[in-house]
Amino acid sequence: VIESKRISGCRVCGSAALSPVLDYGRTALANRFLRADQCSSPEPTVPLRLVLCPGCGLVQIDENVPPKELFQNYVYVTGTSDQAVRHAKRLAKGIVERYQLGPTDLVLEAASNDGTVLKAFAELGVRTLGVEPALNLAAKAAGEGVDSVSVFFGEHSAGYVKERSGPAAVFLARHVLAHVPDLHGFLRGAASCLAEDGVAMVECPHLLPFYQNLEFDTVYHEHMCYFSATVLKTLGGLCGLELIDVEEVDLHGGSILSTFQPIGGPRFATPAVEEMLEREAEAGLVKPEPWAAFARMAQSAKMQLLAELRRLKLAGQKVVGYGAAAKGMSLLSYLGVGPELLPYIVDKNPYKQGLYTPGHHIPVYGTEKLLTDRPDVVLILAWNFAREIVSQQAGYAAGGGRFLLPLPEPTYLTPAKSAAKRVAVAA
Ligand SMILES: [Zn+2]
Repeated sequence: VIESKRISGCRVCGSAALSPVLDYGRTALANRFLRADQCSSPEPTVPLRLVLCPGCGLVQIDENVPPKELFQNYVYVTGTSDQAVRHAKRLAKGIVERYQLGPTDLVLEAASNDGTVLKAFAELGVRTLGVEPALNLAAKAAGEGVDSVSVFFGEHSAGYVKERSGPAAVFLARHVLAHVPDLHGFLRGAASCLAEDGVAMVECPHLLPFYQNLEFDTVYHEHMCYFSATVLKTLGGLCGLELIDVEEVDLHGGSILSTFQPIGGPRFATPAVEEMLEREAEAGLVKPEPWAAFARMAQSAKMQLLAELRRLKLAGQKVVGYGAAAKGMSLLSYLGVGPELLPYIVDKNPYKQGLYTPGHHIPVYGTEKLLTDRPDVVLILAWNFAREIVSQQAGYAAGGGRFLLPLPEPTYLTPAKSAAKRVAVAA
């Protein structure tokens, strides 16, 4: 049994008046993959509901699961995606040049995973320290020469981290803020680690493309909050940080890289901040009505996708999944799809191969199975890597295999030389 707890109020502003967006029902934790011998034991489930705080605009799930439950078996490894490695190198180069970092400057990264990003900084001659709670990942990073401490970053560990390595020129937190139950403690900790002219750079999935592209499958227990620039500005202000820049990043369905300095710091905010706040206000992201429309579209996408999967099955076609990431698990549990419609999933991550998905117990194999088994259709659950997947699986496609993208509506991809061309499913 997992001891989860309904939140008493918004994680940013504390308001108790939260308005419902989507209810996924009780679901298994999306990163808790099972061994064959675990599949027959009862599996704990936790309510998964998405709500909006009309006070500050934070979209969040309204249940807290203890971090030790969420992250003890954390198997996502940054380095497994080529796109992630390329992105890390670009990011490091951009930051080192922009802030003219030298060998005495420290880049501190919270949730540094296997050290992929810090390695890119170290290659450019900058000091680095990683803070990574997952022991296996911290050990892997340390083994590859990336100095790492294994703790949860927050207000309490920030003092220890600063004592160990001195104030940071850059505090970096990539795709972790959404996983942090105590947002205030995390950002106050970040503020306390910074040098006077230091910056905190926080990258997370952006609420605007989440809303526009119907990315409801990126909702899972580990992913508690969905941020807009509007909310990040408010949150920073409550934690001693001023939002001075935002940048859109083409990662994980559309992310936002926000830069803060200590309030009263030496830099002026860029015009990008005000522009983004305006775009978000125009989309109405703080209001309940647009989110009611979002929920209706999610329901309609579910019906279309289920209809397509059932049609394929009736036609005798075999459909398998690609990408056993958390978002795929969320989509499948929202759809209620198990091995009867999707007999297996392939994934490049060796940590997941040979295991079974949480909830519906779909087996996970290596991607080479596509070539030996030759299913008719591959449902791309990891749609944020669709282009990479299609180009890597050219051999499968050459043998007549087809790729189906699930959202925002089921769409077949035809491999082309430069870009994946979309062909919508006839309604
Ligand atoms: Zn709020």
